Amino acid sequence: RRMIEFSRVSLKYAATQTLALDDLSLTIRKGEFVYLVGHSGAGKSSFMNIILKRALPTGGEVRVAGQPLSHYRGRRTPQLRRHIGTIFQDNLLLDHLSAYDNVAFALRVTGVPGREWPGRVTAALRTVGLEHKQRTLPVQLSLGEQQRVAIARAIVSDPPLLLADEPTGNLDPDNSREVLRVLQQVNLRGTTVVVATHARDLVETFRHRTLTLRRGRLVRDDALGGYAL
Ligand code: ADP
Ligand code: ADP
Repeated sequence: RRMIEFSRVSLKYAATQTLALDDLSLTIRKGEFVYLVGHSGAGKSSFMNIILKRALPTGGEVRVAGQPLSHYRGRRTPQLRRHIGTIFQDNLLLDHLSAYDNVAFALRVTGVPGREWPGRVTAALRTVGLEHKQRTLPVQLSLGEQQRVAIARAIVSDPPLLLADEPTGNLDPDNSREVLRVLQQVNLRGTTVVVATHARDLVETFRHRTLTLRRGRLVRDDALGGYAL
């Protein structure tokens, strides 16, 4: 039932003594589409980094797909990450690889048998509307197309959970809407989707549950969405 459960979670960065998450409790159910909004520094990236075990909470408990994160210790950490697709600003496309190879690259690390790659990669590129650009290099793609390849890469292994941090960050309104439509389509197939964003117009156009963070605390949880900062 539950994909993400935070129970009284805090995260204090030792170096700066910053309390990035402060006694945060929330639940995201399997199959939900959720926006995470809040000013810069509110704790959105910290929330995602905890789910990926890139940061360890200094207090509280986190469960992902019913398992406490402590279950994914050591060599099990990659097993956790294999189940989570990510669209982050820092995972750029490899510029010497075609769109096809960039997406296929994600399958190499997940243990999907090679004979399944072509079908899977083509299907993922079809989902983002780029089936005809399989052989194209990133430099020959627009920013919007590049972001859609990054989405294809994130979904090609069919992850139960997709985390997107500012997925429309550099995009114009038309491309931003296209990215949102693709994320919604992925969600309709059963993937739980969490989108951290500053894009007020998108949050108000494509309505979904919206969690608002302020100084590491959950200050709003709106079932029907809306941007209230
Ligand atoms: P958001 O994604 O909403 O902009 P972040 O989670 O990145 O917020 O940041 C929350 C707070 O934690 C901010 O005050 C930020 O400066 C601080 N912070 C984030 N990452 C680190 C880090 N690696 N070391 C120290 N402080 C950090
Ligand atoms: P397998 O190795 O066959 O994937 P697991 O025990 O890892 O088996 O997972 C069992 C089920 O739980 C699978 O449906 C998997 O997708 C789901 N699952 C496991 N870990 C996670 C996770 N971190 N996030 C989301 N779903 C997960």
